[in-house]
Amino acid sequence: MVIMMRMLIMGAPGSGKGTQAESLVKRLSIPSISTGDMLRSAIAEGTETGKQAGRYIKDGKLVPDEVIIGIVIERIGREDCKAGYMLDGFPRTLGQAEAMAKEGIDIDAALFLDVPDEVIMKRLGGRRVCSCGSIYHVVSKPSSKGDVCEVCGKPLTVREDDKPETIAKRLEIYHVQTKPVIDYYAAQGKLLTVDGTRNVEETTELVLSLIGRG
Ligand code: AMP
Repeated sequence: MVIMMRMLIMGAPGSGKGTQAESLVKRLSIPSISTGDMLRSAIAEGTETGKQAGRYIKDGKLVPDEVIIGIVIERIGREDCKAGYMLDGFPRTLGQAEAMAKEGIDIDAALFLDVPDEVIMKRLGGRRVCSCGSIYHVVSKPSSKGDVCEVCGKPLTVREDDKPETIAKRLEIYHVQTKPVIDYYAAQGKLLTVDGTRNVEETTELVLSLIGRG
């Protein structure tokens, strides 16, 4: 029997959402759906959505709800999501959470990775990414191949929105817009808050035990 697991992962930018989502989906055999990754691909491919989203991302602002909701609904409707999914980076506003509920998209658990702002500022400054999707950190998760990706050998880069002034803006937006989403899932009894400063494996095990899949 396939156990359905529809989850979402929330937390400040740099709280480790992407890395934790990657680790959890391997264990749960469900796809990870990152709205940030989908938007970056759309920008790279030069699609209409990419053109609309590009300037918001560059400024550290949120992409308008109507752009993002359509992308997520289309993605969740695909075959590989039938046994569940892990939403990473969506919903980020109360409007997105309510639109998702209105579309009949239900979730079983909302995971919140709790990380203090001081830790976030340090983490994001050291993040390095590869166009293949691999994520590194100069201190906590360096590439064994130095400035190039361990997986594909391409050069690692700093994400455009990881510049210090943009990080501060993204954190401010997170506090104002995403905190109400956390309260929304808490009110529904679906919120699982975990300490996001622990290591990736420990957090994965903790979450799996909390959702009864340990
Ligand atoms: P992320 O990779 O999740 O940190 O997202 C990078 C950027 O993509 C964000 O700073 C936003 O500009 C945009 N973005 C990603 N997900 C959303 C969303 N659910 N709503 C609005 N904008 C988003």
